[in-house]
Amino acid sequence: MLPLLQETYRELRPRAPFPEFELRFYPFVNINNTVRLADGRMKLRLSDLLESAPEPVLKAILHILLAKIYRRPIDRAHSSRYRRYIASREMMQKAQRVRQMRGRKRLESAQGRCYDLDEVFDTLNVRFFHGLLGRPQMSWSAERARHLLGHYDPAHNAIIISKVFDQPHVPRLAMEYIVYHEMLHLKHPVKIRGSRRCVHGKEFREEEKAFPRLEAARLFLKSL
Ligand SMILES: [Zn+2]
Repeated sequence: MLPLLQETYRELRPRAPFPEFELRFYPFVNINNTVRLADGRMKLRLSDLLESAPEPVLKAILHILLAKIYRRPIDRAHSSRYRRYIASREMMQKAQRVRQMRGRKRLESAQGRCYDLDEVFDTLNVRFFHGLLGRPQMSWSAERARHLLGHYDPAHNAIIISKVFDQPHVPRLAMEYIVYHEMLHLKHPVKIRGSRRCVHGKEFREEEKAFPRLEAARLFLKSL
């Protein structure tokens, strides 16, 4: 790896002396790469997810880091090679697995005061999805959030529902609607079209309409 680093350095700075290089692969939670230069020592830390990357990809990331720290323009061939590699399906899956393991989320429990989210998930799963969805980690949120009523977190495979729904005056219908919406996110992963993320696609919206008394449920949400 050092020869590759020296070669990359030479391309950017043909005559300058080498700093003292220190390069390590590091278990970041995300695919991070950092570089620091102090007192003639250059510390590079690459995500250990890149440890098995092919040499041209490693060369690309080294070029990007060195160009950044010396404020040189980044060669577009290198930046696109690196981006393509990171965006490959295999790398995305790898990164997601690692986040799940390293970034373990602290979650509250599925059992609330009024509703048990595991039971709600299982009931809706049978009613609307032929029982085909695998149950993710279900949890009530820590706060009674009104701005974020629910969300599905694919990195941790968890559905979190705002505790605002875990109250006796909240009709089960409204709470079920939020869980159903998040279950649709589980079923329809976010699609990337070009640079746009498509969160509520056509199929998603069609399927959401299948929820009975949808309008009544939405009306209640407005009153929260
Ligand atoms: Zn949504």
